[in-house]
Amino acid sequence: MPAFFGQKSQYSGIGRHTTVVGVLFSFALIVAVVTVMVLTALSHVAENANVLDDERSRETTTGAIKTVQEQLGATLNDYSTWNDAVANVYSADGMAWTIDNYGEASADTPLFDMTIVIGDDKKPLIAYRNGQPMKEALSDFFSPSLWALFDSVKTAGLQSPEAVGFVGTKRGVAMVGLALVRGKFGTLDVPAGQRRYLILVRHLTDKKIAALGETYLIPGLKLVPSTYDAQYSVAINDAAGRALGKLVWVSRSPGDIGYAQVWPMVVKALGLVGLFFAVLLVIGWLAGRRLKAEEISAREDALRDRLSGLSNREGLGFAVDEIVAEATQTGKSVLLLYLDLDGFKEVNDSYGHGTGDQLIRAVAAGLRMLIPEGAVLARIGGDEFAIAFLSDGGNADALQLSEQILDFLAEPLEIGRRVVVVGASIGIAMSAAGAIGREELVRRADLAMYKAKEAGRARMTLYDPLMDADREERNALELDLRTAIDTGDLTLVYQPLIDASTHEMYGVEALVRWNRPGHGPVSPEIFIPIAETSGLIEALGLFVLRKACETAKQWPELRVAVNVSPGQFRNPAFADYVRYVLKQTGIEAERVTLEITEGYMIQNPQRTRQSIERLKTLGLKIALDDFGSGFSSIGYLRQFGFDRIKIDRSLVQGVTESDSQREMLQATVALARSLNIPVTAEGIETEEQALAVRLFGCDSLQGFFFSKPVPADRITEMLEEGRRPDRLGRATSAA
Ligand code: C2E
Ligand code: CA
Ligand code: CA
Repeated sequence: MPAFFGQKSQYSGIGRHTTVVGVLFSFALIVAVVTVMVLTALSHVAENANVLDDERSRETTTGAIKTVQEQLGATLNDYSTWNDAVANVYSADGMAWTIDNYGEASADTPLFDMTIVIGDDKKPLIAYRNGQPMKEALSDFFSPSLWALFDSVKTAGLQSPEAVGFVGTKRGVAMVGLALVRGKFGTLDVPAGQRRYLILVRHLTDKKIAALGETYLIPGLKLVPSTYDAQYSVAINDAAGRALGKLVWVSRSPGDIGYAQVWPMVVKALGLVGLFFAVLLVIGWLAGRRLKAEEISAREDALRDRLSGLSNREGLGFAVDEIVAEATQTGKSVLLLYLDLDGFKEVNDSYGHGTGDQLIRAVAAGLRMLIPEGAVLARIGGDEFAIAFLSDGGNADALQLSEQILDFLAEPLEIGRRVVVVGASIGIAMSAAGAIGREELVRRADLAMYKAKEAGRARMTLYDPLMDADREERNALELDLRTAIDTGDLTLVYQPLIDASTHEMYGVEALVRWNRPGHGPVSPEIFIPIAETSGLIEALGLFVLRKACETAKQWPELRVAVNVSPGQFRNPAFADYVRYVLKQTGIEAERVTLEITEGYMIQNPQRTRQSIERLKTLGLKIALDDFGSGFSSIGYLRQFGFDRIKIDRSLVQGVTESDSQREMLQATVALARSLNIPVTAEGIETEEQALAVRLFGCDSLQGFFFSKPVPADRITEMLEEGRRPDRLGRATSAA
C-alpha cells in the first residue's frame, strides 16, 4: 500500500518540478526579451541622438565656412573700395604703394595669405604670397576656376564687382576673393579694358581648419579629398561646381556615449526585477508544493485507518480498482478476502477498548506478515479486514492464505498481560482477468464472509452464485415476515412447564409460529434470526408479549414465559414497552417470566444488569435461556440476579447417550444450583431424561415428553381435564 501511494505522489512531484522549471524558463525568456527590447529602443534613441548631433555638426561646419567666406568678402571689400588704392593701382608710379599696402599685407594677417592684383588682361601687376613675390605664373598655381570667378566679376560691371569662391591651387584648396579696385563709393572712371582687380587668397590649411573646428566646437574637423568616404561631410566645390574636397569631423556620438552609460544600468535593473519575480515565483512554488504535499498527505490520511495504519474502506476501493484494471490487462485473477474477527466484541466489552485496539493492531501486524507481496491489506470496519491481490493460481492461493490466517488466529494472542483467543470468518471472491468489477467483487466477498459466519465461525467460504439465490430468498422472506407482523399474521403456541415434584403444569412458554402464505410453516429458528438482523424483532417481540399476556389472563393459575431477543433487550426503552403492555393487558407482572440468552449479556454486562434491574422492579421474573450451550461464565450469572436458569436441551438430550454427557449435565445443573437459582430442564423427550434431571436437582421440566407446544385452546382443555396433561399423568404413574 505505501508503494501505491508513494508512486502517485512521486508522479505528481515530478509534474510540479517540470512545471516550475518551465515557468522559470519562460520567465527568464520574458526578462531576456524585455531586456533586448529596452536595449533596442535605447539604441534607437542613441542612434537618433548621434544623427542629430552629426546634422548639427554639418550645419555648424556649413555656417563656419560661410562665416569665413563672409569674413574674406568683408576684407576684400575693405581693400578694394579704397580711394588711395584707385589713385595708386591705376597710376604708373603707384607700384610702391601697391606693394606696400597690398603685397606685403599678405605676410602678417590671418585673413589671407596671398594678394594679387591683375589687369583686364589677367596679367599680374603684383603677386605676393606670405609677403614675398611669388615665382609661378598664375595659371600654373591656380586651377582654371579662378578665371570663372574673374569672368563673373568682370561682367558684373560697377554694380557689385566682387566674388568669393573656392579654387584649387598648387598648395591645396583656397578660398579666393576677387574684386574690382574702385573708389570708396564704387566710383571709378577707368574704362573697361584698363581696369585692375584685387585677389585675396586664403588657403584652407590643416591648421586653419583645425582652428575653425576649435572655434565652432567641431571635433576633428579637417579637409579631406572628395573621394574620402564619410557619412557626414560638407562639400567644398569651386565656382564651376567641381569638387575640391570635403570637410569631415569626428562624430561625437553622444547617443553612443549615453547608451554605453545607460545599458549596464538597464540590464542590472531588469535583472533585479527578474530576480525579484523569480524569487516570488520560487516562494510561491514552494508554498504551492507544501500545500500540495499537505493535500496529498491529507488524502492519504483519508484513505488510511488510523488505528491499524492499514488502508481503510475508501483506500481499499481505490486499490481494488487498480488491481482489477491490472488484471484486465495481464489476464491474472483478482482475489478478494473479507475477514471478520469472531469474538472481537466480547474482548472489547470485557477487557475494554484499549485491549480491543491492541488486538486490532496485533491482528493487523500478523496479517501483514502473511499476505503475499504486492497485496493490499485494509481494515474496513471495527473488526473487519480485507485483503486483495493478484494471482495466477486462482482460488487455490486464496484458500491457502485463508488457511494460514485461520491457523494464525487460532493461536492465543498475547495482548499486554492478557491472552485472548479470537477466530475469523473469511469470505473469498475472485475476479478472473478482472472480469468482475470492484463493487460486485466486494459484494461477493462480503456475502461469502457472511455465509462463513452463519455456517459457524472460524471458517472460510468461497463465493457461490447460489448464495445470491439464498440472499434473495432471505430478502423475500424478510418482506413476507414484515407483512405478517404488520397484519398480525403470527400465532402463538404454548408449551407446558411442569413442576418436577407435583408433576403439575404450573406455567407455559409462549412460542411464536408463522404460516408463511404460499410456503407453509417456517421455523422460528429461521425467521427469528432474520427478524433480529433486519430490525423486525422489536415489533415481533412486542406482538408476542402482548398476545401471550392477553391469552394468559384466562389461565390465572399459570405462569407465562416469553422469549426476548438480544435485539429487543438492547433498546433502552424496552422496559417501558414492557410496563406499557403489562398495564394494557392488566396481567399481574409476577406471573410473567422473560427468557433471555446469554449472548448479549456477555457483550454488554453493564447494560444487561441495568435492564434486568428495571424489569425486575416491574415485578417480572427473568430467566436465563439455553444455559450450557454457550460461554456460561459463572461469574457473570451471579451478578445479574436471574430468577431461573433453563438448561439447554442439547445437554438434556445427551444424558442417556454416555456417562460423560450425563456428568456434564449433572455438573451444569450443579453449577446453576450453586447460585441458589431454580433450574428448568428443557427438551425432555423421554421418561429417563425426566427422571435424571429431576435427580440432579431441576425443579421444573419442559419437553415433548410432557407436551409439545400447543395452541392456547389445548392448554385451556388441559386445565379443564383435571389440570393434568395426558403425558404428565403417565410420567407420574411411571415414577
Ligand atoms: P427456545 O426458547 O429454546 O424454545 C424451545 C424450543 O425447543 C422450541 O422450538 C420448542 O418447540 C423446542 N422443544 C421443546 N421441547 C422439545 C423437545 O422435547 N424436543 C425437541 N427437539 N424440541 C423441543 P421452537 O418453537 O422451534 O423455537 C425455537 C427457538 O426460537 C426458541 O428456542 C426461541 O429461541 C426462539 N423463539 C421461539 N419463539 C420466540 C419468540 O416469540 N420470541 C423470540 N425472541 N424467540 C422465539
Ligand atoms: Ca425459551
Ligand atoms: Ca431454550
